[in-house]
Amino acid sequence: MTLRMSSLFVRTQKEDPVGAEVASHRLLHRAGYIRRSAPGIYTWLPLGLQVLGKIEAIVREEMARAGSQEVHFPGLLPADPYRKSGRWEAFGPDLFHLKDRKDNDYILAPTHEEVFTLLVKDLYSSYKDLPLSIYQVQNKYRDEARPRAGLLRGREFIMKDAYSFDIDDAGLDASYERMRVAYQRTFARLGLPCLPVKATPGAMGGSGTEEFIYPSEVGEDTFVRSSGGYAANVEAVTSIVPEPIDYSLSPAAHVEDTPDTPTIETLVAAANADHPREDRAWTAADTLKNVVCAVTHPDGTREIIVIGLPGDREVDLDRAAGTGMLGNGEVELEAATSEDLAAHPELIRGYIGPGVDLDDQVLGLEGTSKVRFLLDPRVVDGTRWITGANEPGRHVFDLVAGRDFAADGTIEAAEVVLGDPAPDGSGPLELARGVEIGQIFKLGRKYADSLDLKVLDANGKATTVTMGSYGLGVTRVMACIAEEYHSESGLLWPQHLAPADVHIIAAGKGDDIAEAAEKMTAELEAEGITVLLDDRNKVSPGFKFADAELIGIPTVIVVGRGLAEGKVEVRNRLSDEKSDQPVAEVVASTVATIRAAYATADAAADAAIAEGAAADAAIADDAELTESIRADSSASAR
Ligand code: ATP
Ligand code: MG
Repeated sequence: MTLRMSSLFVRTQKEDPVGAEVASHRLLHRAGYIRRSAPGIYTWLPLGLQVLGKIEAIVREEMARAGSQEVHFPGLLPADPYRKSGRWEAFGPDLFHLKDRKDNDYILAPTHEEVFTLLVKDLYSSYKDLPLSIYQVQNKYRDEARPRAGLLRGREFIMKDAYSFDIDDAGLDASYERMRVAYQRTFARLGLPCLPVKATPGAMGGSGTEEFIYPSEVGEDTFVRSSGGYAANVEAVTSIVPEPIDYSLSPAAHVEDTPDTPTIETLVAAANADHPREDRAWTAADTLKNVVCAVTHPDGTREIIVIGLPGDREVDLDRAAGTGMLGNGEVELEAATSEDLAAHPELIRGYIGPGVDLDDQVLGLEGTSKVRFLLDPRVVDGTRWITGANEPGRHVFDLVAGRDFAADGTIEAAEVVLGDPAPDGSGPLELARGVEIGQIFKLGRKYADSLDLKVLDANGKATTVTMGSYGLGVTRVMACIAEEYHSESGLLWPQHLAPADVHIIAAGKGDDIAEAAEKMTAELEAEGITVLLDDRNKVSPGFKFADAELIGIPTVIVVGRGLAEGKVEVRNRLSDEKSDQPVAEVVASTVATIRAAYATADAAADAAIAEGAAADAAIADDAELTESIRADSSASAR
């Protein structure tokens, strides 16, 4: 196949698109791959479709290798299955709703678990039909609150979504593992660095889940990793919970006047000056800070809660919302507003505390306030605190968890900070940013239950099928590849993903130049190599070079002045090499280079799997170490 710049439907742009924050958005727009139609919605131009097609081809090959079969669903779906699964509500305002002329509810599908489940229910009835894995590459629609960064977060985007169906848990484990391998192979072949990280299921439900993260500053996700190989999304990090402490000898709680202590620092200073501890100084970590937050549930109801956590920690609202500990479905969490506080006069700003034995026992299980009081899991029984006494200007000292107060539950709401221990004992955590490019879930029986997908087992008994779901953001992946591979002057695709294998530039006016470029193009095409030929007549070489740099095909052949000596210039923009090659040899050498690039990309998948297996073995849960860290943190909590 040959694309000709003289007729190709493309106009490169000098100007960045309005509001472009990231390189992929800027360059895909300027190089003429995509055009914006509406916020978060894009039109694809020929060059864009070439690259997209190559990415999809790799995704499809790896799905086939993992034994998954391709199907295709509509994007426009009836609401009923989503009502049955509870996701009509759980998706909240992200869901695009519409009505047909008979007033029936429809949605534009944000993901397809429900209808895949129903399709299998429609066709299959026996355990003998399982396991089954099916997938599609299809448009998804989500009315994202903040569509941004071009293809990175769209409101219409392409996802590859696969679903597995098994009769039992062991089957699901095997299906999940096969997909996990397929993902590692796919991203390796795409040349995209990625890390599987532990995640939380959110609105999807189910048990195990991992996200595949492309580490990058442009990402919106914060994840953590330890040098020992632990990696998790911050929502999925669990705190190491100290052992409960014997409080039989702890002093009784006492309320004290604490004027002029508006901050934790001033409170700690006053505590040490006026009410010192017998064993050591009070620190910020001994204060229990109680933060009032507002939860918006998927059905729109707003709930005020109080989160109690050690005073040396901040609340991470996204983490708390993402843990799934605040309610079913996707919830939003924000700091309470002054109106929220006005509606709860028992919450006295700056002096809120749990279960103090005063008239105003407001928080916690036995409290008179109806607000839920949730505690950081490190606040274990026996820990001793300074906290608000629910009266202006007063704090309570030596308030002991389990003895003097209890909460309505725990929540992982505290910000994870550099140096926190990895839950598996593999060392201190460091924080990094990244883009979620895929997520795989062991859904279990949630959807099969709500939509009644059963098959007959070996004994003829109806058994609920267990499912997995496996999403991969195809258009987001393309943006990430553009983030990873570009230069100052334009895109710079890995060779095997470029919109054409070779960019030939006829640089100069003479007929012989045009003829030589045409001949070379025809010879390459005959070898199965795709060419983007810049055959534009009235365009200067400088302009053609600039376009070639913007468009980003790494192998460029310049047919120009050197032709008189029988030479053309071959540039490899990835390695930054240039050489003059005899016209007679250039076709053969180019064919060899391009074929080698495809083969290398394919081989990368095997290497990634070997590396992944070695890393997994190294992570093998070190229970002893976890125990010793637990013991350490119990000691420091005392
Ligand atoms: P995010 O947290 O980034 O909103 P998600 O967890 O909601 O993503 P999933 O439901 O897990 O996304 O969807 C599977 C994959 O689809 C994601 O891993 C991501 O690669 C892709 N994806 C999700 N939302 C978008 C979007 N708005 N634009 C482009 N790709 C997306
Ligand atoms: Mg996800």
